[in-house]
Amino acid sequence: MRWQGRRGSRNIEDRRGRRGGGAGVGGLGIGGLLIVLVFGWVFGIDVSPLLSGGGGGAPQDRAITAQEEREAQFVSVVLADTEEVWSDIFRRQVGEAYRPPTLVLFSGVTQSPCGGASGATGPFYCPADRKAYLDTAFFTTMERQLGAGGDFAAAYVVAHEVAHHVQNELGILGQANQIRMQSSQERSNAISVRIELQADCYSGIWARAAQERFGSLERGDLEEAVNAARQIGDDRIQRSQGRVPMPHTFTHGTSEQRVRWFARGYDSGDLRDCDTFSADRL
Ligand SMILES: [Zn+2]
Repeated sequence: MRWQGRRGSRNIEDRRGRRGGGAGVGGLGIGGLLIVLVFGWVFGIDVSPLLSGGGGGAPQDRAITAQEEREAQFVSVVLADTEEVWSDIFRRQVGEAYRPPTLVLFSGVTQSPCGGASGATGPFYCPADRKAYLDTAFFTTMERQLGAGGDFAAAYVVAHEVAHHVQNELGILGQANQIRMQSSQERSNAISVRIELQADCYSGIWARAAQERFGSLERGDLEEAVNAARQIGDDRIQRSQGRVPMPHTFTHGTSEQRVRWFARGYDSGDLRDCDTFSADRL
């Protein structure tokens, strides 16, 4: 992905290199884990299978490494790209001004109105404060544990969380989550799948518009994003844990569905083509 030389976003809240988000938070602990699970519905990418893998550990006050600084610059440029792209799409397709989200960069653990978070839980969007939360160590997790490396795969992750913000701005996320709270677990999961596939579709819209606007795609970039979408499908993750995939427990959609909805957004560029809620077949 070509990203150097473009402006970075100002809407970054940098919490890295600090102890986890306030007094008394030395690590996630059981309470933290419970909170993470309870608020699991806001997480963009479910990496809870990786929670059992340990790692993480208590964050320390420490210097930011050169690699982390580079990752932060990358995220900031991708976020700025999403601001320009979505401002334009909102103007043309929604007829409203786009209010961009804040992206919180953290390392280790942090707090949010949606609960505590650790790098192991993956990036997520919290509608209550309209912020996306990202530990860039997740990019390494993607590459090494999920087999989803590459800079455009990382950009897709940022774009997917921003897509949840777009859903929030459009009123879709609030409505869907309202219904989820009054639903059985199974129905709630099914609605979650529609939310997530729509976010993948919006990510595809972003990828197309970013290419048109900035010429940011290099050879292999789209494959990186598609591969990432494939590797984080619910069926693939459950299989990798040695389980038989159980569709009623899916919250994000199968690999095939995630790839297809991303491609649909990319091919169309139109928000209306991402209406997963009225689709008969996902
Ligand atoms: Zn998501």
